[in-house]
Amino acid sequence: MKKEKILVVEDEAKILEVVTSLMEKQGYEVYQAEEGKQGLEIFNNNEISLIILDLMLPDISGEEICMKIREKSRVPIIMLTAKIDEANLLRGLDIGADDYITKPFSLMELVARVKVILRRSSDELKPLYKYNSFQNGDLYIDVESNIIKKKNELLNLTQSEWKILLSLIKYPNKVFTRDELVTIALGSEFDGYNRTIDSHIKNLRQKIEDNPKSPSYIITVFGKGYKFGGE
Ligand code: CA
Repeated sequence: MKKEKILVVEDEAKILEVVTSLMEKQGYEVYQAEEGKQGLEIFNNNEISLIILDLMLPDISGEEICMKIREKSRVPIIMLTAKIDEANLLRGLDIGADDYITKPFSLMELVARVKVILRRSSDELKPLYKYNSFQNGDLYIDVESNIIKKKNELLNLTQSEWKILLSLIKYPNKVFTRDELVTIALGSEFDGYNRTIDSHIKNLRQKIEDNPKSPSYIITVFGKGYKFGGE
């Protein structure tokens, strides 16, 4: 089986070394960065499965790195912080990290968290973050500001279309049945024929797909429903 790749971004040489050998012993392939920019570069050029990211780095902060990565990726991130206060503060800010570990940490604890998160990310739903861009920016979605762009041009979606699209994107591995989408998009009070969803999907595809007849974003899963296939 292919080794999963873990990126460790940490400027304290000793911690970097300890964490690296710990992860290697667990069978992971480890990439090291002592600075933020270097970490981002490694991330951009390799298929990293998980990042262990120190908050305080000499160039750009772990917080900023985390947000940069979240603009385009859902890769799991474990933040290392020096104080519990920082961890709590960051949690409140919701910068998109999956977990926080306070230094000094137990090595067994770190291993346990890494394993849990990797397992979760491989077979569970991956949540959506504030911004998402798909297929090299062909489709850009800013959830908080309700902005959606196709090839840099603003699109107008109806409320139902928007809700359907966000639901699909939020859980990219999940196949949604028509009933689920009806509940999400039209509310549970809706008592109609669930094929209504098909017409919303058709309209959505007209707006976001290059070729609505051969969609690359909203995929029909035959006999089941729809899923998002945008990455
Ligand atoms: Ca540091």
